[in-house]
Amino acid sequence: MNVILLGAPGAGKGSQANKITEYYKIPHISTGDAFRSNIAKGTELGKYAQSFMDKGQLVPDDVVIKIVESRLSLEDCTKGFLLDGFPRTLAQAVALDKIADIDAVLNLAVDPSIVMKRLTGRRSCRCGACYHISTYSSDTCEKCGGKLYIREDDKPETIQKRLDVYQSTVNPLIDFYEEKGILVTLNADRTIEEVFEDVKRILNDID
Ligand code: AMP
Repeated sequence: MNVILLGAPGAGKGSQANKITEYYKIPHISTGDAFRSNIAKGTELGKYAQSFMDKGQLVPDDVVIKIVESRLSLEDCTKGFLLDGFPRTLAQAVALDKIADIDAVLNLAVDPSIVMKRLTGRRSCRCGACYHISTYSSDTCEKCGGKLYIREDDKPETIQKRLDVYQSTVNPLIDFYEEKGILVTLNADRTIEEVFEDVKRILNDID
C-alpha cells in the first residue's frame, strides 16, 4: 500500500499520518520531519534546508527528491509507505512516478481560514507527534515525554507564506493524480477521528 497525503499546511497531514502508520504498520515518510531532524543534528543538509524553511519557501526539488529516493529504497518500504509532505511540486511527482507505484493520494481539503488557527496553536514534538493548545495543555509529549515546542515556521507571517506557496503549487499536482484516477479528496474540516474513519474506508478498499 503506497499512499500519499496531500493537503495545505495545517490540514492535518501529520495527525492522519500518525494514525495511518500505526493502523496499517507502514513507515511514515515526512520530508519536513527529515529536514527538522537534520536541523536538530546540525548537519549541512539541515543548515541548507533551514534557509528555505524559515522563510516558508520550498527546499529545491533535486535535494528533496534525492532524500525520498534513498528513503524509499530501504527494506521497510517494500510492503508499502506513507508519504507526508511529498510531493509538493509537479517535478517531484514526476520523479516519484519513476521510482514507485502509488495506490492512493488522499487530498485533505480544509477551509484556509481555519488553518491559521490550527497552526498558531500547534505544539510539536521531535518524535513527530503534534498537539493543539485548545485540547492539550501539557508541555510534554504524551507519547515519548519529549518537550513540546513551537515550530519556527509556525509563526503567523511564515504560515501565510507557506499557504501562498501551497496554493500556487498544488493544482498541477491535483491534476496529475486526478488524471491517474488515484486522487480522493476528503473534507478535513472535521475531527481527526472523523477524517480517519473516511481514510480507513478508502484504504481498506485498496488493501
Ligand atoms: P512540513 O513539515 O511538511 O510542513 O514541511 C516543512 C517545510 O519543509 C516546508 O515548508 C518546506 O520548506 C520544507 N519541505 C518539506 N517537504 C518538502 C518538499 N516535498 N519539497 C520542498 N520543501 C519541502
